Amino acid sequence: MNVFELDRQFVANTYGRFPLQIVSGKGSLVTDSEGKDYIDLGTGIAVNTFGVADEEWIAAVTDQLGKVAHASNLFYTEPCAKLAQALCARTGMKKVFFSNSGAEANECAIKVARGYAAAKWGKDRYTIVTLQNSFHGRTLTTLAATGQEVFHKDFTPLTPGFVSVPADDPAALRKTVEETNAIAILFEAVQGEGGVLPLKEEFVAEMKALSEEKDILLMADEVQVGNGRSGSLFGYMNFGLHPHIVSTAKGLGGGLPLGATLLSETVENVLTPGSHGSTFGGNPVACAGALNILSRLDEDLLASVREKSAYIFDTLSGAEGVVSVSGMGLMIGVETVGDAGEILAYCRDRGVIAIKAKNKVRLLPALNIPTQLLEKALSVLKEACAACAKG
Ligand SMILES: *Cc1c(COP(=O)(O)O)cnc(C)c1O
Repeated sequence: MNVFELDRQFVANTYGRFPLQIVSGKGSLVTDSEGKDYIDLGTGIAVNTFGVADEEWIAAVTDQLGKVAHASNLFYTEPCAKLAQALCARTGMKKVFFSNSGAEANECAIKVARGYAAAKWGKDRYTIVTLQNSFHGRTLTTLAATGQEVFHKDFTPLTPGFVSVPADDPAALRKTVEETNAIAILFEAVQGEGGVLPLKEEFVAEMKALSEEKDILLMADEVQVGNGRSGSLFGYMNFGLHPHIVSTAKGLGGGLPLGATLLSETVENVLTPGSHGSTFGGNPVACAGALNILSRLDEDLLASVREKSAYIFDTLSGAEGVVSVSGMGLMIGVETVGDAGEILAYCRDRGVIAIKAKNKVRLLPALNIPTQLLEKALSVLKEACAACAKG
């Protein structure tokens, strides 16, 4: 059996995979099992921050692999400690808990919020307000936080203590925070899976006001929008927010599984020995790679992300078959006249990979994608949007 057949027979049937087997790559080019090259505008869902087989990252990872790949959290390791220091230095946060995925980073964030609230107000106050169309992960608790019914069905009862409000309705936010005696608001600065939608200023202002007025926590889910993707180091920084808890993953590891939950002064001491943990979390190899990624997310790189973003918006806005372009930095959603799935297939035929968010085409290129490849990929995408609009 070939890989396609093996996968269909033996891998749990949870993914609608594209009909491609990726075997290798270099930077923003990936190669399939037929030897065909593609310009990659998907980066494994915002994970491959500097593309595939990035040499600096490989050097950092292999150097650590040759020393020790795993020690467990019963011992100290340098990459874990240094990565925590670097994350705190870049954000002003005070402590970091490491895990292996976005869902786990959010689980930790939720436990911290509950622990904080229980100590402050007692155990009967626990509701976290989330936003409709959000995505926070696939565990039963992060599913409960995810404000999209379609992910909930078949898996109830979910963890109680979550209620979602429309992401563009500040009045509903206030009403719900008050009615539920909420302890926190959990948000994505730019909703990824929900359609690549940045928060609106009025909504952000109300979140800030409520947090101050009622002394409740702001929790930023930076799993997708974080780590330079928005054109700032973290997405919330574009909105002048100072969240109490920040969860991140995807692009931080640059290709290896890594989650991180950043804790501000307000909550830095909520977790105590034995209250939380992870066998693999803070794995030295993943952390060594992440340290390299983080060190390269400097102001020059972020400025180039913003420049490329403006170029994408300019190129696609008003193009034939394009209804609207949304997003921030190199996290962009393209609403199209034609079917997004057909547009993606058209692009793949012509050597360009992109992904979907709801019914939009979603672009998440490597932060260092060469301008020439970006231009080439966008010209294919434009052609696809025009061709598929005709039906
Ligand atoms: C992908 C994603 C998650 C879940 O991350 P996993 O690593 O798949 O668990 C959570 N929140 C957001 C915003 C995401 O985009």
